[in-house]
Amino acid sequence: MPTESTFLLAGLFLLLAATGWALGRFGERDEENPPPPLNVDYLKGLNFLLNEQTDQALEHFLEMVRVDDKTIETHFALGSLFRRRGEIDRAIRIHQNIIARPDLAAEQRDQALFSLAKDYLHAGLLDRAEKLFVRLSQGSRYQVQALESLCRIYEQEKEWQKAIDAGQQLETLSGRSLALQIAHYYCELAEEGAANNDYAAARRYVKKAQAGRPRTMRGALTRAHIARETNDHKTAIRLYHRIIDEHTYLIAEALPEIVATYEKDGSMTGLDKALRSMLDKNPDMRSLVAYTAIVNNLTDIPIIDECVKNYLLDEPTLSEFVDLHIFSQGNGATQSEALSKVRSALSKLAAATPRYQCQECGFSSQRLLWQCPSCRNWETQRPASRVQFDTVLQHSITNH
Ligand SMILES: [Zn+2]
Repeated sequence: MPTESTFLLAGLFLLLAATGWALGRFGERDEENPPPPLNVDYLKGLNFLLNEQTDQALEHFLEMVRVDDKTIETHFALGSLFRRRGEIDRAIRIHQNIIARPDLAAEQRDQALFSLAKDYLHAGLLDRAEKLFVRLSQGSRYQVQALESLCRIYEQEKEWQKAIDAGQQLETLSGRSLALQIAHYYCELAEEGAANNDYAAARRYVKKAQAGRPRTMRGALTRAHIARETNDHKTAIRLYHRIIDEHTYLIAEALPEIVATYEKDGSMTGLDKALRSMLDKNPDMRSLVAYTAIVNNLTDIPIIDECVKNYLLDEPTLSEFVDLHIFSQGNGATQSEALSKVRSALSKLAAATPRYQCQECGFSSQRLLWQCPSCRNWETQRPASRVQFDTVLQHSITNH
């Protein structure tokens, strides 16, 4: 079946035939470089198209219409059209053809290199794209765009040091701050270091991450994680509490760590005391603690169980599904049995619903993602402030 490219090229051949005819008729031919006889050539091109040999037709077009000042824009337009339509091989062929012209002006060469780099990026040929963007970033009018693309490529390839270098260059050139983005690059390096047990390097990177403004709380989380891993539990606990104080929404990340740290120390009374004092200062946090406990299955910790129980009793939607009188009137054993049943059911329901959502583009996910995979922004995800049990239950009912 003829594709859109076939029609596009057919249109171009007809246009060229008409132009060739007009040029021939009105004698505007360049005597030194006479264009090839278009009547034969365009018929040959059209013949390829009629046989649905689009690639041969394109090759024929490129041979026929040499890149010169008059035709270069047509070549660029055709190239970007093919790329937009996802026909990357053809776009690459056209842009390579432009670059092959020996007497190309510097600006046009840069434009062609930039177009070709974008083709490679679309085709997933990151190495080739990187090479061209590096070249363009060293001095062309595409410097800023090239550096932006390089940051994306290095993010995908997890080449964090290169991403930092490109980001810093971009800051200088564009005059806008990329402090948060660069801080996250350092955090990535710190997390890598910690994963390889190179805690000295990890600490160095965290320090660099925290030097910028605005500060990312991920730096503090990484520091706390390093402290835990190196058995400096006191520092870990202090940092996790500070993280919750400053950014309540990170309780879902910090609370399970706090619990695990105290458990490792065997100091459950210490945990109880720390959590009670936190909740005395911020009673509003009780529902967040309950939510985090339900989602992360934190059980058998009296203060947390208490938060969960109150949370369930206060949840209006639940009363439609569960006989909550059991909680308030039943004896201890019945009560805790009912409580744990509801908890585990809710935990399963919550696990099936995205918890975090990007505030920029709305992308949602189960786990906290520091960089949104959809809009590529950093630290734009926030959790649902509480489990939307009405939505969750509704969802569950309509799907069963
Ligand atoms: Zn997003």
